[in-house]
Amino acid sequence: MVKRDYYEVLGVERNADTEEIKRSYRKLAMKYHPDRNPGDKEAEEKFKEAAEAYEVLSDPEKRERYDRFGHDGLKGGAGGFSGFGFDFDLSSALRTFMEGFGGFDDFFGGGSARRRGPARGSDLQIKLKLTLKEIASGVDKVIKIKRMERCEACSGTGAASADSIVTCTTCHGTGQIKQVSRSIFGQFVNVSTCPSCRGRGKIIKDKCPKCNGKGITPVEAKIKVHIPAGAAEGNYITLNGEGNAGAHGGQAGDLYVFILESQDEIFTRHGDDILYDLNISITQAVLGDNVEVPTLTGKARLKIDPGIQSGTILRMKGKGVPHLNGRGRGDQLVRVNVWVPEKLSKESKELFDKLSGQKDIFPVSG
Ligand SMILES: [Zn+2]
Ligand SMILES: [Zn+2]
Repeated sequence: MVKRDYYEVLGVERNADTEEIKRSYRKLAMKYHPDRNPGDKEAEEKFKEAAEAYEVLSDPEKRERYDRFGHDGLKGGAGGFSGFGFDFDLSSALRTFMEGFGGFDDFFGGGSARRRGPARGSDLQIKLKLTLKEIASGVDKVIKIKRMERCEACSGTGAASADSIVTCTTCHGTGQIKQVSRSIFGQFVNVSTCPSCRGRGKIIKDKCPKCNGKGITPVEAKIKVHIPAGAAEGNYITLNGEGNAGAHGGQAGDLYVFILESQDEIFTRHGDDILYDLNISITQAVLGDNVEVPTLTGKARLKIDPGIQSGTILRMKGKGVPHLNGRGRGDQLVRVNVWVPEKLSKESKELFDKLSGQKDIFPVSG
């Protein structure tokens, strides 16, 4: 199936601001929500499509990528190490919906039978700059981030003590209010979230003073992350549950580590191949030589055949960047440049003068 343009899906202009995008998504999500269209596969597809479009266009980084590269810009490597790719199923669509708007009840004025648990913590993202050598070998890094973690003083409950958590008297701990109504079609039971405890079933009398009842506090955390060999700029690693902890015991969000690659001083990366420029002298080019060249892992010897032309590219097999998620590695390409001296000593000049009379040193054309 051909993917529709995200702007078209949401029915907004390409320069639409975040508010417009949100409003438009909200309208579509309400219309096509599976709870409103039970068993309707087409509505479910529309709901997922809108959520996916919103997920991208509401995130400045993903939106920029999408604007520049289209859907392809959101794809990446496979298997555990994701690029910007999505596998957007119904549960991710529902999650987008819940996160974007605080849940179903806020949409439909508490008319749903859904019981709302504590909200999930938000996702965090961090950029990690790596050198080419780190990328080539794979690397373990410790990153520092500020995030919300479960409050130690109250173990995340938000209560000053165990005694200050009491059962909600409005809903008797169920978190829901049931209302029965009659119509010509029969009896309806309308279930809504309890307004007193917001669906939690418990009420806190005295709040924990450290976190002011939220159950979470800001912490500077150090997190270990392993970057597999062969990563590239734009890839990211998802660390599940390493984002912000949710308030009131809610599940933690995820942490996304985005890879940035710093420019190497001697190598230029071309996919998994690396290019190195080697300057050789005229005599080395004419007579051949065996030279030492730097590699990603140290040094290696390279044979220069006599009579090599400037601009020749020599390939050193398997000396490049390892393939991500696969065996083998790219190659090191060595571009040979014959360096012509700009100033000569008297002695060298005399030698060149002698050479210039030799017929065999002239280029043959045609
Ligand atoms: Zn209640
Ligand atoms: Zn606390």
